[in-house]
Amino acid sequence: MSYTVAIVGRPNVGKSTFFNRLLEERKAIVDDVSGVTRDRQYGVTEWNGRSFNVIDTGGFVHGSEDVFEIEICKQVKTAIDEADVIIFMTDAATGITDLDDSLANILRRATKPVLVAVNKVDNNNRYLEATEFYILGFEQVFFISSMSGSGTGELLDAVTALMPAEAEIAVEKTDLPKIAIIGQPNVGKSSLLNALTGQERTIVSDIAGTTRDTIHTHYNLFQKEFMLIDTAGIRKKNKEKDDLEFYSVIRAIKAMDEADTCLLVLDAEKGITAQDINIFSLAARKGKGIVLLVNKWDLIEDKATNTARDYEHELKKRIAPFNDIPIIFISAKEKTRIFKAIEIALEVCENKKQRIATSKLNEVMLKAIEAYHAPVVRGNSIKIKYVMQLPTHVPSFAFFANFPDDIKTPYKNYLENQLRSHFNFKGVPVRIFFRKK
Ligand code: GDP
Ligand code: GDP
Repeated sequence: MSYTVAIVGRPNVGKSTFFNRLLEERKAIVDDVSGVTRDRQYGVTEWNGRSFNVIDTGGFVHGSEDVFEIEICKQVKTAIDEADVIIFMTDAATGITDLDDSLANILRRATKPVLVAVNKVDNNNRYLEATEFYILGFEQVFFISSMSGSGTGELLDAVTALMPAEAEIAVEKTDLPKIAIIGQPNVGKSSLLNALTGQERTIVSDIAGTTRDTIHTHYNLFQKEFMLIDTAGIRKKNKEKDDLEFYSVIRAIKAMDEADTCLLVLDAEKGITAQDINIFSLAARKGKGIVLLVNKWDLIEDKATNTARDYEHELKKRIAPFNDIPIIFISAKEKTRIFKAIEIALEVCENKKQRIATSKLNEVMLKAIEAYHAPVVRGNSIKIKYVMQLPTHVPSFAFFANFPDDIKTPYKNYLENQLRSHFNFKGVPVRIFFRKK
């Protein structure tokens, strides 16, 4: 299921500090590139055993005060449309500002739950001052310190309390592979969809009450059936008022949550952007199968023999270490290799489902371990005695060892590479765990 929490608020209230606290060690994977300007950050986290998406809307805007206010208001409106819960962050150290008032005015009219987080309540004095935020008129106000973490647990409890119980979630009852087409605006997602389905799809307008964030189309090709999950065809009427980047990423996240495998579409002329890498990492972290489609390949003039190979090589460098990924050069416009893309996506779905017999797994992996042992740590020689695949959706392997905590990342990477070289996990994230034997 897809559940998304957006953190909104003016700059410097502590949104990013809070976000980082939520993501903790996962941050390194998610927040890959941050330039001089603060990029918006996307991540996935877990609290009370429930997993949800978190978006730090950043709040960084170029321009004068006025432009600035307009842009932040846009972000808030997009958050209201697209997120399931909004955390409205304010700052106890500065108190209520005019911009807080403007944002509160927009948020009070929201149909989504709004939780006010009064941040920087680092001590008791601050707490007394912070009670002024009740004036904003929201029912749920939390006093937190993102820096120390105090109060953040209660806030997150409130978030998970708002999530529908697993049992209430209407899941599409299907065993068919689910493939999502995702990517940034204008890379050619709609064109690809139209080329595949062979019909022009009209833009679905936003009908109150019946709005869906994704369209599921049952599809039949090469005697294979699958579901295509698409958000490309759906755009809001007031699209031009939206913050397009925010909007498109949040849609991509929703589509990927519902999919087994994502077709991440890139524009051949633009190459892979920091935002694409963010989305890629998020898909990997969510355990989704991934296929990279380099679209608009027809525009690449010099298609000398090595062009595609060099391009692929560069792409793989950018997405390393997880680069055992199919890369396909397509043209939605000229309909080249678009069915190939689907075929490969279905293969990735199969790769993801595969279960490897324990005997075969041990035969292959124990040999690999014999060939190259984990380094000795504190005089302990590490012995891995047994491997098994765990019964999970994302292919996961438990290696049983005498000192599981002493096995470091490089060796883990070695084992993953060995797994990938002996079994076909192309396009699929693989998880490796070490357990005490
Ligand atoms: P953003 O622009 O809303 O994302 O704000 P940042 O997360 O970048 O934080 C702005 C500043 O506030 C930074 O200097 C943080 O260290 C500081 N800050 C964030 N949370 C707290 C907090 O709980 N207490 C205090 N005292 N400072 C904080
Ligand atoms: P979306 O926003 O990702 O759904 O992108 P669209 O499908 O709307 O395409 C954006 C623009 O790129 C349109 O002008 C398309 O005609 C163009 N386009 C899409 N695919 C291709 C392609 O394979 N080659 C070329 N040359 N243009 C393409």
